[in-house]
Amino acid sequence: MRAVVIHAPMDLRIEPTAVSEPGPGEVRVRIEAGGICGSDLHYYHDGGFGTVRIKEPMVLGHEVSGVVERLGEGVAGLAAGDRVAVNPSRPCGRCRYCQEGRQAYCLDMRFFGSAMRFPHVQGGFRQALVADASQCHPVPAALSMGEAAMAEPLSVCLHAARRAGTLSGKRVLVTGSGPIGVLCAMVARWAGAVEIVATDVADAPLKAAKQAGADRVVNVAREPDALAAYERDKGTFDVLFEASGNEKALTGAFAALRPGAIIVQVGIGGTFALPISVIVAKELELRGTFRFHEEFALAVELMAKGHVDVKPLISATLPFDKAVEAFELAGDRSRAMKVQLAFN
Ligand code: ZN
Repeated sequence: MRAVVIHAPMDLRIEPTAVSEPGPGEVRVRIEAGGICGSDLHYYHDGGFGTVRIKEPMVLGHEVSGVVERLGEGVAGLAAGDRVAVNPSRPCGRCRYCQEGRQAYCLDMRFFGSAMRFPHVQGGFRQALVADASQCHPVPAALSMGEAAMAEPLSVCLHAARRAGTLSGKRVLVTGSGPIGVLCAMVARWAGAVEIVATDVADAPLKAAKQAGADRVVNVAREPDALAAYERDKGTFDVLFEASGNEKALTGAFAALRPGAIIVQVGIGGTFALPISVIVAKELELRGTFRFHEEFALAVELMAKGHVDVKPLISATLPFDKAVEAFELAGDRSRAMKVQLAFN
């Protein structure tokens, strides 16, 4: 068995790795598809983000799907041969937050391919993976393994939408039209938003946003004043999904937000300077959103039922032993939306 292992910035290797037998309640999954996420790219380019740093070699990847190969003792509801989307999140179930039903805040979270804890939690970019049975969500035959691997980023956006509250009849602005921004637009469309405008500083992602159902897309690098049309009468948008993690994208949108608008900050940025007087006078609500929990099952069901079609977002699939090439491609926004690896 081989895996995609990050050793240091720009040092990504394909290496043999041991795969254990599934323990009680666990299953072994033959991985088929794995999507490269922005955080995988941060590990690749910078060795991490914020205070999260690679301190030992780590298998990357948390957007994976595959086929159940072997069952551990006591596993019910799954069988060998089941095609599954794998939820990378494994909360402890015992801490105070898990007990409160807020598993995303778990004090002892194990999230595949994350260097947040040490020893790091090894990730899913490997030919076989042992996961808890509860992390494996069966997908119907109509869904490709690549689509199944999109359940994770879709879950992130379903949670972001939940943080925004009701979207029915709302006017929504999405800043940053990478995979997460575009998935937020798709979710907003599904949830009943009446108008969706998406921005970016590059044309290729905006094309994807348009295809995903945005009513209008704006290249704010080329048309810096394009949002001015939305500023009259104290603003137009009820909800902002800020998916770029860029300070200018956030503050540049304030004038186009209606009083009482809800800002869901999805993108992770550094330290921003915010016009507090605008937040106060317009009673804007700035809300964080982080990962997901029950939304994972919902993501699988929405795709299975055809309510959300993520296929157009998968821009390339490369064999996993070409991971370096795939990571370079994934980092080039002019050529790539979601790049996935194929493992078998
Ligand atoms: Zn917990």
